[in-house]
Amino acid sequence: MKSKDLLIQLAKIEQSLHEFSYDELNSKEASTLKRTFENFKKRLEKKIFHPQSAIMVDNVSDYYAVPTSKENKIHHDTEATKLIARVSHEIRTPLNGIIGFTDLLKEDDLLNKQQFERVEAIQKASYSLMEIISELLEFSKLSAGMENFEAVNFDFRNVIGDVRFLCETLISEKKIDFSVDVDQNVPKALIGDPSKLSQVLLNLLGNAIKFVDDGSITLRIKVQSEFNNPVLLDFSIADTGIGISEEHIGHIFDSFKQAESTTFVKYGGSGLGLNIVKQIIENLGGHIEVSSELGVGTTFNFQIPYKKGNPEKLVHKKAQAISSRQIAFVGYMNVLVFEDNQLNQKLIDERLKSWGCKVHITDDAREGIKILEEQKINLILMDLKMPGKNGFEVTELIRTHENKSINQLPVIALSADFSENDRKKCRQHKINDFILKPFKAEELLEKIIKNKSNMERTLMIESFKINPLAINEQDQAIDLAPILEECMGEIGLLKELIMLFNKNAMEFIGAAKVHLKNGDIQQLEFAAHKIKSGLKMMHCNSLLSIIEQIQKSCKENVDMKHLEFLYSRFVEEYPNVNKEIAIALKKLKPGTD
Ligand code: ADP
Repeated sequence: MKSKDLLIQLAKIEQSLHEFSYDELNSKEASTLKRTFENFKKRLEKKIFHPQSAIMVDNVSDYYAVPTSKENKIHHDTEATKLIARVSHEIRTPLNGIIGFTDLLKEDDLLNKQQFERVEAIQKASYSLMEIISELLEFSKLSAGMENFEAVNFDFRNVIGDVRFLCETLISEKKIDFSVDVDQNVPKALIGDPSKLSQVLLNLLGNAIKFVDDGSITLRIKVQSEFNNPVLLDFSIADTGIGISEEHIGHIFDSFKQAESTTFVKYGGSGLGLNIVKQIIENLGGHIEVSSELGVGTTFNFQIPYKKGNPEKLVHKKAQAISSRQIAFVGYMNVLVFEDNQLNQKLIDERLKSWGCKVHITDDAREGIKILEEQKINLILMDLKMPGKNGFEVTELIRTHENKSINQLPVIALSADFSENDRKKCRQHKINDFILKPFKAEELLEKIIKNKSNMERTLMIESFKINPLAINEQDQAIDLAPILEECMGEIGLLKELIMLFNKNAMEFIGAAKVHLKNGDIQQLEFAAHKIKSGLKMMHCNSLLSIIEQIQKSCKENVDMKHLEFLYSRFVEEYPNVNKEIAIALKKLKPGTD
């Protein structure tokens, strides 16, 4: 079959997946879906592992029939790469659908244990296929010289820190002793492509993790040459895993090669990773070698020359210890900060905003109270020493305010020195907590989380005491009355709209996860675009703002970490919105579910 036909078929699959109703999936259907999909996967893998008969070669054979001069070859490689890019995009699209829908199936509590396991198997297979396709694309891009390498000033230790963090996450289920040793001579700032470096390291460390069950993995980085600039860095990744036999070690960097025929069955993979690693290192002017002993372990050694960077011009990176889940927890808080020092003002402003909080800053008591009366503030940070009224006095004003939703707000004091007397005074003024300056970002985040949850617990208990169904006014952001009006008062129609909205949101959650994993920004942006009108219709401003930020980030400055963070905030926030909608619906018409 011509690849064009294949693409049409795949597009059809995607279309049917969109229309697929998973509500009535029984165990027989689930197993058929799994079987069909696995057949699809196997056949595709066969094509990939036997390039003579592979899809792309079928179609580019015409080109290769022409005698090859160097120029012709480059032209053909480029054409082949374009074709592979297209095919891989077309395969990814239905795969995204498969993964997204399996996500939905898993989240809906519709499945029994056996069905759940089957859906998980489909998902696992989809992910491994997705990985193979991504590697294939990268491999062809590198081979055709179409891969772009950046040259930016980057913080070397930050890259290593990120790689380390990811590896630690991967090995959490294994008994592996993982250590990283960076020689202190290695410069702080280097010029190069940090993402390519992490790709190389993650590939080699990922393999090590795959092939070690119980043992150790060590990453060592030293400066090899005495030359000042560029510096030649020497990397070694040593593991005590299964090792590679002498017979196979000579071919280990070849494309589509795995050590044993059983490797794929047991460990999966495409046999492309090491070839990609080698191509990247060589593109960077470096060199890689491997030494291994079967049953003892494997060591990869490579050198890359880097120009020294400027440590002064490194972009400040946020604290690593903070998880996106924690950040998601504080996102959407509306924080009022009383602080007079401009530098501190800027610092807190930036930190809180980077976590997604809305921030108001003032050093004036009157202005602060006005903000409290006009904005729905969730938490107050209070510098104790301010020029006009000090922090204790401002807190006094807050605690004696007539509005209960203001006078009970959590206040966290900030001070450069806390005497025992200050602590006592804090308690007397009903200041909930305090932080000593200078504080680390994690500390601030922890305190905010602690006090946010206290506050929410109190509100929940209080509102429950008055009326089990009552909701705190601050929390109720969604009003369905205007939408009901648009539905000409038809509650059935409104319910349908709500169902559709929920379906779209779940689809977005499933699809965006996949796009993020694949770094597919275009698809992510499209998914965000698709859900936007629904959010507008439901007046879900909190979710809408996240979506708009995702769109902005996709368009302007693609930062995967930030996008992941925004996505996790969406996932965290969505259940709240869902609950709010359900409550609002109940309020509209008592007795409706
Ligand atoms: P794959 O995607 O199959 O892992 P790679 O190119 O990364 O492809 O690796 C090719 C093969 O090299 C692997 O399938 C495995 O047989 C062997 N290999 C790579 N790294 C290691 C290691 N650390 N220990 C043992 N074998 C390894």
